[in-house]
Amino acid sequence: MSLYCGIAFKRKSFWCYRLLSTYVTKTRYLFELKEDDDACKKAQQTGAFYLFHGLAPLLRTAEHGYLVPRLSLLELERLLGKFGQDAQRVEDSVLIGCSDQHEAWFALDLASLPKPEMETELRGSFTELRKALLKLNSMDSSLLFTAQALLRWHDSHQFCSKSGQPTKKNMAGSKRVCPSNKIIYYPQMAPVVIVLVSDGARCLLARQSSFPKGLYSALAGFCDIGERIEDAVRREVAEEVGLELESLQYSASQHWPFPNSSLMIACHAIVKPGQTEIQVNLKELEAAAWFSHDEVVTALRGESPYTQQQNKISPFSLPPKLAIAHHLIKEWVEKQACSLPA
Ligand SMILES: [Zn+2]
Repeated sequence: MSLYCGIAFKRKSFWCYRLLSTYVTKTRYLFELKEDDDACKKAQQTGAFYLFHGLAPLLRTAEHGYLVPRLSLLELERLLGKFGQDAQRVEDSVLIGCSDQHEAWFALDLASLPKPEMETELRGSFTELRKALLKLNSMDSSLLFTAQALLRWHDSHQFCSKSGQPTKKNMAGSKRVCPSNKIIYYPQMAPVVIVLVSDGARCLLARQSSFPKGLYSALAGFCDIGERIEDAVRREVAEEVGLELESLQYSASQHWPFPNSSLMIACHAIVKPGQTEIQVNLKELEAAAWFSHDEVVTALRGESPYTQQQNKISPFSLPPKLAIAHHLIKEWVEKQACSLPA
């Protein structure tokens, strides 16, 4: 595909010819669909549609996990017709991506239609995304995360927060505009820092009362207005466990759709020398403790290890592979292994 997307900067020299990569042409195509309603409507003609019902995606059970069914425009229009809906409903869909061949992908929530009848018709079930998580492959889960987050944002931004008037989405769903005062609303994510604190030899893990029994994870919290990532990390650690940081290092990030759209910014941090006594803020956490390299390695292996906290031995587990906290913990273990004496 990209071979045919060459841009000639200057006709006179062959050497000025530059081919745009598949990624760049795809990105430019998506940009065009977001900016141009007619182009987006045209893309719907050959697009694929992912269906949701009350933010739960349509899934089909397969041998190893789930399949994520997609409908063509024709199939979608036929479905809408069957349930007495105008074909215009297609315009409620939001753009969530496209293939390397520029097949545009859309998501549409049909919460107003009867769920059981639609499930029968579509030979699938609208399944809560959180429940389906561990059975989806990473590409499907990332696409469904985006779709659900965008659909949720539209659902909760139907009105202008200044004038109270109904807002109108553009064709792609990349923004909403208030017709009365022209304010433009863009979908937002809340930045959240997640930090794995270490004292050099051990790492600090904590749990909230809402976590599944025995689960310990890295510290996390929302960025406050005006904060840089490093400010938010230092504040969260001080607030939650009463420790001060010597240094911190960015690791990776992840979009997380639950309960609302968050941008998880994952960091490693080292406490100041001598800062090892944890003072748990019980308004935020149920417990926090230092864990040894061996304890964490055993937990990563999923061997249901035990930890000695507050003089009692209790089983503990770590977040699943899909969560960025898991990535942070694994990275820390690998770094520790490199720094341990042979
Ligand atoms: Zn307004």
